[in-house]
Amino acid sequence: MTRALLPRLAVAGIAVIGIAAMSAGTAGAALVPSSHHKPGKPGKPAASVPVRLLTINDLHGNLEPPTGSGGRIVDETGQTVDAGGAAYLATHLKQLTDKNTLMVAAGDLIGASPLLSAAYHDEPTVALLDKLGLKASSAGNHEFDEGITELNRIMKGGCHPVDGCSPAGRWKGTSFDFLGANVLKESNGAYALPPFYVKKINGVKVGFIGLVTQTTPSIVTAAGIKGLKFTEEVGAANKVSRLLARAGVKAQVVLVHEGDNVTPGQSPDACPVVPGAGSRIAAGLDPQIDLVVSGHSHQAYICKTTDPAGQVRYYTQGSSFGRVITQIDFQVDKKTHDVIRSSVVADNHVVTRTVTPDPETAAYVQTWKDRVSTVANKAVGKITANIGRDSGGTGESALGDLIADAQLEATKSGGNAEIALMNPGGVRADLTYAQSGSEGDGVVTYGEAFTVQPFNNLMQVVTLTGAQLKAVLEQQWTASGTKVLLPSASLTYTADLTKPIGSRVSDIKINGTAVTDAQQIRVAANNFLVGGGDGFTVFTQGTDLWSGPLDIDAFVAYLGAHSPIAPPATNRITFVQ
Ligand SMILES: [Zn+2]
Repeated sequence: MTRALLPRLAVAGIAVIGIAAMSAGTAGAALVPSSHHKPGKPGKPAASVPVRLLTINDLHGNLEPPTGSGGRIVDETGQTVDAGGAAYLATHLKQLTDKNTLMVAAGDLIGASPLLSAAYHDEPTVALLDKLGLKASSAGNHEFDEGITELNRIMKGGCHPVDGCSPAGRWKGTSFDFLGANVLKESNGAYALPPFYVKKINGVKVGFIGLVTQTTPSIVTAAGIKGLKFTEEVGAANKVSRLLARAGVKAQVVLVHEGDNVTPGQSPDACPVVPGAGSRIAAGLDPQIDLVVSGHSHQAYICKTTDPAGQVRYYTQGSSFGRVITQIDFQVDKKTHDVIRSSVVADNHVVTRTVTPDPETAAYVQTWKDRVSTVANKAVGKITANIGRDSGGTGESALGDLIADAQLEATKSGGNAEIALMNPGGVRADLTYAQSGSEGDGVVTYGEAFTVQPFNNLMQVVTLTGAQLKAVLEQQWTASGTKVLLPSASLTYTADLTKPIGSRVSDIKINGTAVTDAQQIRVAANNFLVGGGDGFTVFTQGTDLWSGPLDIDAFVAYLGAHSPIAPPATNRITFVQ
């Protein structure tokens, strides 16, 4: 049992320190009740001590107040309010912090970030979290976007191997760790990240076990998860839980980057969730684990599940982008050193913008805003005329076509893509020849390209049959509306809008050759579409998934390689109407 585990633990430096600290001193003594803890004696000290956790998840580098729907949330009264932004988050955190407080997180704090943070490999975000007092976070899938070596650099310090030091100077690393009890090195099965973190507070030890969704390999670029193995979450956590318990750490919290969905519009304090991977984990973890703080699904909920011993166990999540802080208060029994389950209270707080933004944090964010302007203004390519996303009613737009071409080019060699399809909702702005404040020179800056493709979606390639490709294309028209996917130049077909929904697509060709039903076709699309987004459920039948670069990187590379770029003719789909 432990014998197999201990040599592996020894690989992760922090774990060694953790074990050493636990086997010496107070933890061992805690197992033996001392006489003055016995009830009934006059002047006895309190039988339990309070601990407060403040938790966040899925911040995704949102230092500036997020805009659009990502910057709004339904509050406890049912109203939709503006929420999020690091300066507001800092104010709320300070208001909720007392001397019993620990701040922890459940992953995706970095990755898929706005340019302000992404341009500096998220160092601005991580440094701020450190300053705000974050003690530990589980790794999320996005923490692996740039690979384990980069994640280790973020924790341990040193400047980026390619981009060098940020304008803030040499990167110092973090005082907190990203934890991964189910992230192992493929080569020897050792932990690739510290699996747990133990913090002593008010004389008791609280152990935090970090987990990331075991589906990480299917949602992160292949390069990012190279050499790593992601194991089933419950089993991985239970192993560490037993080890901690034996070392006297009985108060245990799981930070898990996996979660469930809720009904849109429900209160952040409500529970009903659509039972999924999050519920499975929350219910399955060892009874020694007292709390489950989750993430990944960007939902807010406060749930009570039942652990395998029949005890009530809280299962929470705090939305995303810094819009919610989850406050969890509980008592730890000084004799057993365990959480008194009946004492646990959890509450989600919306990070409203009606409070005074923390001035120090606001100034910090402004500094990075000023710095990133040079990155944003960097020219990445040229266009010969406006390239817009307006489809003129048909659904096919010049900019959408251009993006599909860029996506195909970026996935051809690694993923063997033959065609690319882009969702129209992911084309967020036009490319204009004359930008505001500058002459009409057709220069496209990185900031402009990022505004067109801001989601940091991953490019993926799957194999569809010819029949499945036709089915995907038929899904563009439904009773509730039309969403025409933008095709790369290699794909042409006819859409007869006079025909009934479900039988409108014909004459599908790849590079001029007719597609057969049984033909195997490598289709590139972003991870949103490949996951069945926008109702394109047939995409999920794809096989041989390959994950490539971010969509923004594909777009920028294409702009650079083909400048100056003329607007593509929108003639890939022949509409009959
Ligand atoms: Zn995630």
